[in-house]
Amino acid sequence: MAPETFWRPGLATPIGAAREWCLQAKCGPCDRVTAYRLAELADVHGARLTVSEIVSRLRCKLCQAEPTTAELVSENAGRSGHFKTVPLPI
Ligand SMILES: [Zn+2]
Repeated sequence: MAPETFWRPGLATPIGAAREWCLQAKCGPCDRVTAYRLAELADVHGARLTVSEIVSRLRCKLCQAEPTTAELVSENAGRSGHFKTVPLPI
């Protein structure tokens, strides 16, 4: 079994290097959470775009507001069964 990795992406991580992570952004006014797969964002926008650049481009589809919170969530639960999350400063 492969050893569990403790590496976590951050704002400066190119999205192509964290393809198995999702970006979850919440719109405060709408109380609505939208999840984006980094693999899909990398295919559409380019793998070299950083997490920070993606977050700065995010807008709510309903009200066009910038997200109030954003976090990265691993698509694969670790051995503990917990999904890894990385809160992002906005
Ligand atoms: Zn909204």
